Amino acid sequence: MELVVQTDGTISCLYDEALDLTALGNCEVQRASFVEPHVHGGWTADLWPVSGPVLGPFALRSEALAAERKWLDHYLLSQARSVMFFVVCPGCGSAVEIPETAVGPERTDLWNVCRCDVCNLSFDYDDQELQFEIDDRRLTWIPM
Ligand SMILES: [Zn+2]
Repeated sequence: MELVVQTDGTISCLYDEALDLTALGNCEVQRASFVEPHVHGGWTADLWPVSGPVLGPFALRSEALAAERKWLDHYLLSQARSVMFFVVCPGCGSAVEIPETAVGPERTDLWNVCRCDVCNLSFDYDDQELQFEIDDRRLTWIPM
């Protein structure tokens, strides 16, 4: 079970009975989607309650439930995340933003190379040099 804790103390998660959520404070439970049989067969996950897409149809209901969970996990994180990753330019000391696709275990950009928009220097960096900012607080990235 994944809990997304925001800076204002709000906690969001997909409903699950693994934890007693009332122990964390007042709870509000809302429907986020509907998994329904499709008129032409199979199953769909309709995410309209959170302004999301209709996923499917899937042959199996369990496939629709898995797709629903995957989409909602990503949605919850994206709602909470206001993180900027950056490294300090060795040429001029400016913060150079690093895209999320180049950070973390599921990154698709593996090269750790970037270019400073201020002094136009292209440089590479180590994961240990990566820093991030959440709501204007600068923190040091600790790679796992
Ligand atoms: Zn620079």
